[in-house]
Amino acid sequence: MIGADDVGGVHIKYLYHCQRQLWLYARGVRPEHLSASVQLGEAVHETSYTRSTPIDLGAARLDHFDGAAWVHEVKSSTGPSQADEAQAMHYCYRLHAIGIPAQGGILHYPKTRRTKRAPYTPDAARQAAADIAEVLSVVAAATSPPHLSRSACRGCSYIDYCWNE
Ligand code: SF4
Repeated sequence: MIGADDVGGVHIKYLYHCQRQLWLYARGVRPEHLSASVQLGEAVHETSYTRSTPIDLGAARLDHFDGAAWVHEVKSSTGPSQADEAQAMHYCYRLHAIGIPAQGGILHYPKTRRTKRAPYTPDAARQAAADIAEVLSVVAAATSPPHLSRSACRGCSYIDYCWNE
């Protein structure tokens, strides 16, 4: 079972997308059709902005942290989501915990050339702490959370697993 320090960006992303996905992932269930490299990529980071200044946060590894203390994240989707923002706030929370005063997250969406700036506010910090607690609570459940609706599952890497049980 994972503890608070083990909670990383992928757990937060799955918490916001689907609690069942989080539960399966945290218990080591991996979609069979995903290659090891894709799994590793998902576990570490979605895509990297630059590899110039990696910061190892244990469960999370940031690829770019700029001189003004903003966390940069490059996303493969077309626009901002609650999950993306929550993930960035999680990284800021982890940075603050080790004494690095992160200012917030800057989310980049190259496909649509959009950028979203999310400042790390006291509310964001409280939410980030609550998200970690929520991850632990979901993962501790004895049975897997229910499926989302079929349409909400579109594109999920667990779709074969969930819908062919
Ligand atoms: S396939 Fe659907 S229910 Fe299963 S983990 Fe993905 S989003 Fe959740």
